Amino acid sequence: MTARIVVVGSANMDLVATTPALPAPGQTVLGHGFTTVPGGKGANQALAAARAGGDCTLIGAVGDDAFGTDLLTGLRAGGVRTALVRTVAEPSGVALIAVDDAGENQIVVAPGANARLTDLRAEELAAIGAADVLVAQLEVPVETVAAAARAAREAGVTVMLNAAPARPLPADLLSTVDLLLVNEGEARALAQRRGDRIDALLDLVPRVVLTLGAKGASYGDRDGLRLDVPAPVVSAVDTTAAGDAFAGAFAVAWAESRPVADALRWACAAGAVCAGTLGAASALPTFTQIDELYGASA
Ligand code: ADP
Repeated sequence: MTARIVVVGSANMDLVATTPALPAPGQTVLGHGFTTVPGGKGANQALAAARAGGDCTLIGAVGDDAFGTDLLTGLRAGGVRTALVRTVAEPSGVALIAVDDAGENQIVVAPGANARLTDLRAEELAAIGAADVLVAQLEVPVETVAAAARAAREAGVTVMLNAAPARPLPADLLSTVDLLLVNEGEARALAQRRGDRIDALLDLVPRVVLTLGAKGASYGDRDGLRLDVPAPVVSAVDTTAAGDAFAGAFAVAWAESRPVADALRWACAAGAVCAGTLGAASALPTFTQIDELYGASA
């Protein structure tokens, strides 16, 4: 049976300008290139799950503008169900990104439509209740994430929270999370005590996946299971969205009830394919690409 994944999260258009040097406050600099790149952690993780073979629905919001149309078109082309993505009277979410020749960047995110996802309607709650796994991040209002997680929990649906970008989490949200997915920076921000990060996070939630970039990923749960999985070795050209590729693939593997060690290895392969490919959403790997690297690294 195909893994049913519902993602509640953001969709943004990234507006990326390259420049010899980043502007100081009040300064104007001439850049040398410009691209628009669809992004937002919600949209990226939904695409990642769909490309990894999941049946994936995104719940989110875009603006009634050209970026909104482009974002929806890209999601549909990637196989994501978009019937529950609202179009609202607010600009689409954008990230204004300047990157200099040394790779240093400056980013302003204007959430726009994403901030308008302040309620969940009956059909959205029904979709969550019919899923195998709910995936959420923190780029839409946290009250909405908490309401989605509550609906999932009541229906016996696994709640996977990617706590990114890092921010304090309300207790009512934490109490509904089955699986917390964080990178090292997010783990540091959330862990309330020093020492082993996973142990500290297990004070908050029953299961933790910690991604470690080129070092792979670790898992821990309150039953005492601990796993460390190395990432396949790739020549990394662009790690943008590697965490999203990992999240989407892990959600699919978890929904398929694969053993945790396999799910981790498969998701690490997804993150590694993405890190070894230029681009963000366009670098999110397909099922076949993930399986190839997964098989090669066995
Ligand atoms: P984020 O992108 O959220 O900061 P990480 O950097 O931890 O997250 O990357 C997520 C996953 O992507 C890692 O767990 C790993 O599986 C894979 N990955 C990231 N960078 C590399 C790399 N340089 N080589 C191989 N795999 C990588």
